[in-house]
Amino acid sequence: MLPEGGKLLPGVSAGLAARISQFASLRYFEPLARHTTFKVGGPAAVFALPKSPAALGEVVGLCRKEGVRHFVLGGGSNVLFPDSGFPGVVISTARLDGIAIDGEYVTAAAGARISELLALLRHQGTRSLDFLAGIPGTIGGAVAMNAGITEAQIGERVESVWAIDSGGEVVRFTRDECRFAYRESRFKVERSPILAVRFSLGGADYDASALLARRAARQPSAPSAGCIFRNPPGDAAGRLIDVAGLKGLRVGMAKVSEKHANFIVNLGGATSADIRKIIDIVRQK
Ligand SMILES: Cc1cc2nc3c(=O)[nH]c(=O)nc-3n(C[C@H](O)[C@H](O)[C@H](O)COP(=O)(O)OP(=O)(O)OC[C@H]3O[C@@H](n4cnc5c(N)ncnc54)[C@H](O)[C@@H]3O)c2cc1C
Repeated sequence: MLPEGGKLLPGVSAGLAARISQFASLRYFEPLARHTTFKVGGPAAVFALPKSPAALGEVVGLCRKEGVRHFVLGGGSNVLFPDSGFPGVVISTARLDGIAIDGEYVTAAAGARISELLALLRHQGTRSLDFLAGIPGTIGGAVAMNAGITEAQIGERVESVWAIDSGGEVVRFTRDECRFAYRESRFKVERSPILAVRFSLGGADYDASALLARRAARQPSAPSAGCIFRNPPGDAAGRLIDVAGLKGLRVGMAKVSEKHANFIVNLGGATSADIRKIIDIVRQK
């Protein structure tokens, strides 16, 4: 239900919410902690769930036209929202989950879960994307972040990406045009919403069981957002944090993991401010 009084929070009018509701299911003051793997984050003024890639484009277009802050959210496994929440429109891709296999290619909508894509491909006997096993989140988030492991990054397997450019047009970008780099892509830099991604299925197979076992041995199981700091060239951020004596550093209910120093874990009831404080302390050291 739309709250009384026209304004939801600074910048989001009831009129805009009504227009967005033509293209998406809406929730008001939705706690973002429910949608992040850190399990922290205050309310989004408006939480929109577009029903199709085209509808996502319409919602983004409406927000851009009215100059309203908006944020495209995938699986929430690499985000930290403040405790005060988000005073704008969070656009979730959760309902955009189609996957279609076409010979040597597979096309996935932005909100398709990595785990679901891998399960479907395995069913077809294809394991070339299995290096992504154990990485939570969605295809859109993974491609925006160029997610991966030491051995491979998702961008290497991208054939093309449909995304909304700065002019509001849906554009099909070839892999070269995506400008993939270490945990980086043009979509992240330009904040261009990804609608769908087509992958090539060629290339070496990976052993998901072995990779999952490696993760279980090295990474904590408590709520987190994965590695917090980028690895500097030729070194590992986790090693540097460990050497600085910060393993186990605790603020409130957040802590630098004892198992992997580049993970901050929520021990249960941590606030975003607790986590932010740890990030600041680690940065200073
Ligand atoms: C336990 C754990 C282990 C992890 N291990 C790894 C790992 O091994 N390697 C690795 O690279 N990462 C890892 N991560 C981080 C994270 O899972 C990846 O970055 C993941 O791909 C993010 O996807 P998401 O859908 O959750 O994105 P979100 O967290 O929802 O969003 C991340 C960023 O992507 C943007 N985004 C999301 N969807 C779209 C879209 N459709 N269009 C444009 N931008 C979009 C968001 O705006 C945001 O800037 C790990 C995280 C956890 C919690």
